[in-house]
Amino acid sequence: MVMLKCQVCGYIINERKLKDVCPACGSKREVFELYEEKISNKRLKLLEAHIHPLFVHFPVAITLIILILSILQFFIASNLRNAILNTIYILCLLLPIFVLMTILFGILDGKTRLKAITPLLKQKIILGSVFLILSIIILVLAIISLEVLLLLILFLSVVCFICGGLLSKIGGTLICIIKP
Ligand SMILES: [Zn+2]
Repeated sequence: MVMLKCQVCGYIINERKLKDVCPACGSKREVFELYEEKISNKRLKLLEAHIHPLFVHFPVAITLIILILSILQFFIASNLRNAILNTIYILCLLLPIFVLMTILFGILDGKTRLKAITPLLKQKIILGSVFLILSIIILVLAIISLEVLLLLILFLSVVCFICGGLLSKIGGTLICIIKP
């Protein structure tokens, strides 16, 4: 397998997958040169474990389920409704823990990958922090009174979900970069 590296942005790609321009920065194919592995095994193993990309699914899934259940409970009779409210409550408790872990693994992944805090990584850290703050607010609201504040929780989980979407959009472009 022949790997090439973009001399402009550092993007590393399989020769066969490279088209006319760099998928990360748009520079012409000519700027690519042969890439030899200069990355330590430890770094490569850490990145290939995909801990952060795996973890990102948890907070997004939890917010999505909170969102769906919060809507669902409006249409459901009392017995099952209590079960749903309890489930939402537990998910609200778990959310900040998973968001925090995802951010920490994300910073580890980003620093291993890029060797520095780049503008995009900074943007991800800020957005991730917004996600964390919102998840803590959701937790507090749930503890105060889940039933009374459910609409607010529903709204905040929509915002969280959008945050998660933006984060994974940026993350998708970062995942192909490994700085030697
Ligand atoms: Zn490039």
